[in-house]
Amino acid sequence: MTRTVVRFCARCCGAGLTLAVPALALALLLNPGFPHPGRHALVLWLLFALFYTLLWALASTIFLPLGLLIRRHREKADHPPRVSLALALLYTAGAFVFNAVHNRTTVAPPGTLLIMVGAVLCLLAALTHLLPAVRQKAGKRGLAVVPLVLLLLLPLFRPALPGSAAAVNAAGAGPVVDSGRKVFVIGIDSASWAEVDPLLERGLLPNLQRLVDRGCRGTLETLVPTESPLLWASMATGKLPAGHGIRFFLRADFPGVGVPLYLFPQKLFLGRMEMLKLMRFSTIDGSEMTAAAFWDVAGRHLPVGVVNWWQTYPAARVNGYMVTDHVSFVGLRHDPPWGSGLTHPPGLARRISEWEAREPLPGAEEARARFFDHGGARIEELEEYIHWRCFEPDEKTARIVRRLLDEEPLPRLLAVYWNGLDPVGHFFMRFAHPERFGAVDSSLVTRYGLVLERYYRYTDELIGSVLQRVDEQTVVVLVSDHGMEPYRGVKRLYNTYLMGGPLMTAAHRDAPPGIVVLAGAGIRPGARLERASVLDIGPTVLALLGYPPALDFDGRVLEEVLEPAVVRELAGVARPASYDGLILPRSAGSGDPADDDAFRQHLEDLGYIE
Ligand SMILES: [Zn+2]
Repeated sequence: MTRTVVRFCARCCGAGLTLAVPALALALLLNPGFPHPGRHALVLWLLFALFYTLLWALASTIFLPLGLLIRRHREKADHPPRVSLALALLYTAGAFVFNAVHNRTTVAPPGTLLIMVGAVLCLLAALTHLLPAVRQKAGKRGLAVVPLVLLLLLPLFRPALPGSAAAVNAAGAGPVVDSGRKVFVIGIDSASWAEVDPLLERGLLPNLQRLVDRGCRGTLETLVPTESPLLWASMATGKLPAGHGIRFFLRADFPGVGVPLYLFPQKLFLGRMEMLKLMRFSTIDGSEMTAAAFWDVAGRHLPVGVVNWWQTYPAARVNGYMVTDHVSFVGLRHDPPWGSGLTHPPGLARRISEWEAREPLPGAEEARARFFDHGGARIEELEEYIHWRCFEPDEKTARIVRRLLDEEPLPRLLAVYWNGLDPVGHFFMRFAHPERFGAVDSSLVTRYGLVLERYYRYTDELIGSVLQRVDEQTVVVLVSDHGMEPYRGVKRLYNTYLMGGPLMTAAHRDAPPGIVVLAGAGIRPGARLERASVLDIGPTVLALLGYPPALDFDGRVLEEVLEPAVVRELAGVARPASYDGLILPRSAGSGDPADDDAFRQHLEDLGYIE
């Protein structure tokens, strides 16, 4: 009996140590900033080993009957632990491929290649475990160790972090050519032409129509993965996630390891480590951005305003104002509802709460009356959701912008972001287009069929309400980060038939493109946009303000839509190596873990993280 227990524990430890090797290699390849080799990497490996040991023990217990069955059929020659370890390594090889594909814009290209090499090494290790012929030739288990050792050494060849050598600033003295132009960037999450065009044709989006009529339009290529923090950071910096440092919603901190993982290996069950208290996730905030955003570059010298953009918390000390993305959510937690770092200048948070006290935000009943039809079946959770996760925060943001436009002079650069259309698309698209989803309850369509259309119309009203406070000379840059489409393939079948049609049924995993509309002084009406990308917005906004594109931008200036005079302004001007030396200091955050928990809860409620 004791011998069996000891053997069982030894096997679990062996599996833990073995599987921790590829997991560590993958973690290091995904995080070029993590020191390796070193004490931190060793502690991380031991934590992974402990986790996989426990996982292996659990799995072995659950699958014990199956193991016994295999043993009975296979006699002594091939013992099951070897087969199961080989299968686990095969699975790990697949996880490597998934991580390389999923993170193809968050990891610098040589890193992706190395992860694929890692997949091959996992495969080799699995095969040497699995194939008796190979094993006999190599003298039992000797050969399996070779790919594992190579895998451990692989992260030594990681590419350097991009941009780290180029943090020099060559243009700290303000815009090179100051044309006095004003730029208003409007970010709408998840808007797509596929939804917008039919509504434009029916005359239901008059404000967007006016903008398109006097300017130009195009699609905006997005990045994979289509996760909001990194996309909106790319939009503001003109850089790929590997360059601006925002690569996910969360960072992972481990006890005894001084360096966090910013990109966490997926599909290896490592997320479960948090349940065992072997690590802790916390939300990433703007202080972790390693590239200058357009508000950093312009906000040193020109007056700028930013409202509700991702990664603005804690507020950057811009020359002007910044209302961070935490205001709509975490800010409400406190009593009084303002806290450290929520706005710049800090007193603005107090003003906002006074505005809200005077003009309370709409309640749940107003949301119901506005977006739902009478009759049909109801899903109470969805009805509440649209109020407190979409309508209320969007309304709050719009009111803040309108107030600021009424009470303050229009800054040279103003940027605002609305999120509501994204969750509305995720949850309500199936009722708008039931024919594209199949198996949608018709009584739900009766009640929710027009929600998506109504939310687009509501968003158009918000756009109109802020644009009517701005003159037509101001350049408007309206963008979305990606479109939305029904779940496909297995995921859709699983959702529709096994889960009985749960709440979230549409997504943007396959990166449908977003939209872009430009209009105002300096924009050629009717110009054709060719292959514009979210990376091009930052460089174009800066160019319109008189800043030449930095050499380290991954995006380009959308010259094809600019008046020749604007292009000429910057032609012949020396381009700076980088603007990253211009990152403005941030206010101190609240430092209250409850704030982080609240923001994380908000991201979970939106369905953005699990
Ligand atoms: Zn989304």
